Amino acid sequence: MTDRTWENLQRGDSAAIWHPYAPALGGHEVFPVVSASGVRLDLADGRQLIDGMASWWCAIHGYNHPTLNAAVESQLNAVSHLMFGGLTHPPAVELAQMLVALTPPGLDRVFFSDSGSVAVEVAMKMAIQYWYALNRPKKHKLLALRHGYHGDTFGAMSVCDPVTGMHHLFGDALSKQFFAPAPECPFDGPCPDTEMAEISALLSQHGRDIAAVIVEPVVQGAGGMRFYSPEYLVKLRALCDHHEVLLIFDEIATGFGRTGKLFALEHANVAPDILCLGKALTGGYMTLAATLCNDRICDGITNSEVGAFMHGPTFMANPLACATAIASIQLLLSQPWQSTVRRLQTELAAGLAPARAFDSVAEVRTLGAIGVIELKKAVDMRTIQPMFVDRGVWIRPFGKLIYAMPPYIMESADVATLTNAMVDVVAHL
Ligand SMILES: *Cc1c(COP(=O)(O)O)cnc(C)c1O
Repeated sequence: MTDRTWENLQRGDSAAIWHPYAPALGGHEVFPVVSASGVRLDLADGRQLIDGMASWWCAIHGYNHPTLNAAVESQLNAVSHLMFGGLTHPPAVELAQMLVALTPPGLDRVFFSDSGSVAVEVAMKMAIQYWYALNRPKKHKLLALRHGYHGDTFGAMSVCDPVTGMHHLFGDALSKQFFAPAPECPFDGPCPDTEMAEISALLSQHGRDIAAVIVEPVVQGAGGMRFYSPEYLVKLRALCDHHEVLLIFDEIATGFGRTGKLFALEHANVAPDILCLGKALTGGYMTLAATLCNDRICDGITNSEVGAFMHGPTFMANPLACATAIASIQLLLSQPWQSTVRRLQTELAAGLAPARAFDSVAEVRTLGAIGVIELKKAVDMRTIQPMFVDRGVWIRPFGKLIYAMPPYIMESADVATLTNAMVDVVAHL
C-alpha cells in the first residue's frame, strides 16, 4: 500500500499521471481525495469539500450511497463481467427494458457501451450505416451546432464546436462536418424562424450528404453551458424530417433529471431517432453509456445485406454497471426528484444572483440543478482552483464559466455554502 499522505499522493501523481486537459509534470495542482460520502469529498489531509460538480454531472445521489453500494455488492456475488457476444444477463435485460420504458415511444432498441464518447460514436455509426443500408452511402456527414460538446474520441470530436473544441489541434485528421450556429433563443422564450434560417439552408443545400443532425437538447454543456428554447427542437425535428436527415439527441449530460425533466427532450416533447445516455446513468458509480434507436434505424440496418450493426466494445453492458444503473434509476424515481431539482434551481438562482453586481460577470443563469456564472474573461485555473478549496467547496471552472451541478441530495445549507463560495471567489478575482 502506498503512503496515502497528501504530499506523497501529489508527488506520485505528478510523476506518473496525465490528468484531463492538463499538462503533465504536475503543472496544475491536483487535490488527493481518499473517500467521499453524501455530498462531501474527504481530502487526504483531513479537510472536506462540498462537491458542486457531482463528478461532472454523474453523482446525482452523492457518494457512498447504501442503495447503490448494495446493488454493486449483490451483483459482484452473481457475476461481475461477461462478454456480451452471444451471452446476456438479467441486469442488461432489465436496464434495457427500463430505458425503453422511460424514453419516448419508438426508442425501442438499446446498444450499451462504456463511455459517453463511445455512445456518440455508436450513434454516428448507426446513422451512417442506416443510410448505407438504404443504398445512400453518400449520406455520411453529420451536422452539429456551434458550442456543442459530444466527447473526445475522433468521431465525437469532429462534431464538437470547431473553435472551442480540438479541431485546430487535429486538423485534417478529423472528419469535416457541417456546423450551424448555436441557438440564441432563450430557454423560456419562443424560437423564431430566423433562428432556423442557417441550419435550414445547410440542410437544403447539403441534405443529400448528411446522415444526421446531432444536438444536446436544451442545454449545451461543456461547449458553453448554454440554455436554449425547447421550441428550437420542435422546429429542428420538422426540418430533419423534411430533408430526410436523422436526428440524434445527446442527453449524456442532461439525462436523469438534471434540467428538471427526466430527459431534456421532454421540455419539447420531441423524440429523436437516436438518443445517447451516459454520465448519471449509474449515479456516477461506474462507467456505462447507452445509445437507443427507433425501429426505422434498427430495421433499416437489420434488413440490409450486412444485417448486423458493426460495433462491439469488450465491456459493453458490464453487469456491475447495469445493476448499479437499475438501482440508481429506481432510487431516483422513488423520490420526489422534480421538486428536489426545483428547490435546487431556486437556491442556486438566489445564491448566485449577487454575482450579477460584479463588473467581471457577463451573465448568471440557472436551469434545473445547474447554476452558471459566466465571466467576461477566462479564469486562470492555477489561481482560482485553490480559492474554492480554501472555501471548502469543489468547483471546477473552465474558460469563462464557473458553474455548479450538485448532487440532488445536497441540503439547502450546503447549497448556500457552495453559492456563497462561488460569489466570493468571483468577488476576489
Ligand atoms: C461528457 C459528455 C460526452 C462524453 O462522455 P464521456 O463519458 O466523457 O466519453 C458526450 N456528450 C455530452 C453532452 C457530454 O456531456
